[in-house]
Amino acid sequence: MAKTKSCDRCGEVIFKINSICEDAEIICQKCNNVIYFNAGKYTTYEKKCSHCENDLFKLRRYDYGDKEIIKIECTKCKGEPKQYYVDREGNKIDRSVREILLIKDTIESVENNIYNIEDTISDIDNRVYYLESEVGSIINNIYSKDEMINGLEDNVDNIKSDIYSMSSEIDRLKNDIENIDNQIYRLEREF
Ligand SMILES: [Zn+2]
Ligand SMILES: [Zn+2]
Repeated sequence: MAKTKSCDRCGEVIFKINSICEDAEIICQKCNNVIYFNAGKYTTYEKKCSHCENDLFKLRRYDYGDKEIIKIECTKCKGEPKQYYVDREGNKIDRSVREILLIKDTIESVENNIYNIEDTISDIDNRVYYLESEVGSIINNIYSKDEMINGLEDNVDNIKSDIYSMSSEIDRLKNDIENIDNQIYRLEREF
């Protein structure tokens, strides 16, 4: 079932067509409100009906469940306006020129994609570089901590050997004192 679309502003149901590239402007006959109607790439609609040359149209809305299609319909014969191809300046072009324009657009969008990918790669490069230098400084930190620990271990070793030599000195002194004690004891006995 088709429903007639009316002007959002004034409720009028009859429109005229202004042909522009990729969107036909559907203009309300009463208040000049513009509804943009997508006609396809480098395509537009003629201002007149392809059958009867009438330039007044209705917009008919067909509901296909999840999809809604709007058709432009002549008020006299229910025919459609003829479609034709245009460039961005609005000049009429033939199909082969349109194909070339479409190919150019595709190449342009591929080039843009490549440019975006290059951007992304240089972004990733920057992040990797940052992480590498971060890892480098962490490794440097670990090295300098290792050196500190080695230095401390050396100190502890030195202190240990100091203690060892001091304790053997103490033992020697103890022996000496014992000898002197013995000598005193002997001298006391003799006299
Ligand atoms: Zn209107
Ligand atoms: Zn017609």
